[in-house]
Amino acid sequence: MAVTLIKNGHIVTAADSYVADILVEGEKIKAIGQNLPADGHNVVDAGGKYVFPGAIDVHTHLDLPFGGTVAADDFYTGHVAAAFGGTTTHIDFAIQGKGETLKQAVENWHARADRKAAIDYGFHIAITDLPESVMREIPKAPDYGVTSLKLFMAYKGSLMVDDGTLFNSLMVARDSGMLICVHAENGDAIDVLVKKMQAEGKLEPIYHALSRPHFAEAEATARAAALAMIAGSPLYVVHMSCASAVEQLRWARETGAPIMGETCTQYLFFTEDDLRKPNFEGAKFVCSPPMRTKFDQDALWKAIAVNDLQAVSTDHCPFNFKGQKDLGKEDFSKIPNGVPGIEDRLKIMYSYGVTPGKISLNRWVELLSTNPAKIFGLYPRKGTIAVGSDADLVIWDPNKEQTISAFNHHMNVDYNLYEGWHVKGMPEKVFLRGRLIVDGDSWYGEQGKGEYLCREKFSHAM
Ligand SMILES: [Zn+2]
Repeated sequence: MAVTLIKNGHIVTAADSYVADILVEGEKIKAIGQNLPADGHNVVDAGGKYVFPGAIDVHTHLDLPFGGTVAADDFYTGHVAAAFGGTTTHIDFAIQGKGETLKQAVENWHARADRKAAIDYGFHIAITDLPESVMREIPKAPDYGVTSLKLFMAYKGSLMVDDGTLFNSLMVARDSGMLICVHAENGDAIDVLVKKMQAEGKLEPIYHALSRPHFAEAEATARAAALAMIAGSPLYVVHMSCASAVEQLRWARETGAPIMGETCTQYLFFTEDDLRKPNFEGAKFVCSPPMRTKFDQDALWKAIAVNDLQAVSTDHCPFNFKGQKDLGKEDFSKIPNGVPGIEDRLKIMYSYGVTPGKISLNRWVELLSTNPAKIFGLYPRKGTIAVGSDADLVIWDPNKEQTISAFNHHMNVDYNLYEGWHVKGMPEKVFLRGRLIVDGDSWYGEQGKGEYLCREKFSHAM
């Protein structure tokens, strides 16, 4: 069995920071301590470097069919990019097609992922069709390794479910140890606004944002939280983008209900003004919910610092500017929704979150790794550095600098949201279950070596 000794790293978890050696035997962390003997093991000197648990991105869409096209990263290119950014686990959405069982949805996503996977992965099931037979299947989802379901309160006419369906699934989820995730936007109001803007000839990318006002997100967040509280069910609100919605979540959490939320990196850095960029460049920033305002950004930074929000994910869903985003050149509603980011999350949140003191280093680990593992049934196998945990480890050089660019990123997409941004602090080496997969600019991972994670049932109230 391969044995690696990582010497003198500055280990950072959600709770602790200390200098120690880590002994990795096979896929697991075997020991942590001072001056562990080298004994002829493969020794990695981490002096002057941080060692973090591999990051977990619980909201991604690799190889996703959307609006007549397919997200530009598949499970291999997306995994390579994730690994270079320090992410060693992600949870993707297996989308149930109309008329399909949940089992079929999971099998379809296994067919997309299994042979390509180079990091570890799990699935949520995104439900789009919920007849009685599928409702009865929900308690079986843990048999497929899936313990969270996503329902959409937006996308009227395609993905949106009504309140009765949402409420019913919350009750079924409560009884079967599942966590319901919601995309919280008022799909009815947005549908009216989109049609109104189209009728008025307002077709540029900015109208994507203007047709999805923050009140639509706040209202749906409050409604979902209320339904979860009536059902006595946990709830996780994905990609929260604005102050008013976070305020509703905070209200629900103050009752003690197990109601949680995430934001995504991009909502902390961009505003709807980015959608006004000329020459259709605004389309690069089109995602749902949309980018908001500086006021909302400030509220989100506060929310992640004080635990009103529990996780930061990416909602990575890349579409090329040339050839995909331009499907909506004549009509904003046809722009494929989604932005790239699976590679950038750690670097951006470190240089623009930790370094300026907006969040602590421990909180950064908690938001990007530990809480995602706890909420989604992967802890303590993932999400921490502890004896017995998977040896998913990131050796982080706090002094290494980079200018982020589509020219040197690993994502299979022709632009980067953070183009030209300077970062200081980035991964030097990345280990997946004890195997070195990234070393500087070199890639040592392999297709098919990523492992599908059967997740535990929901148990933690955060
Ligand atoms: Zn998403």
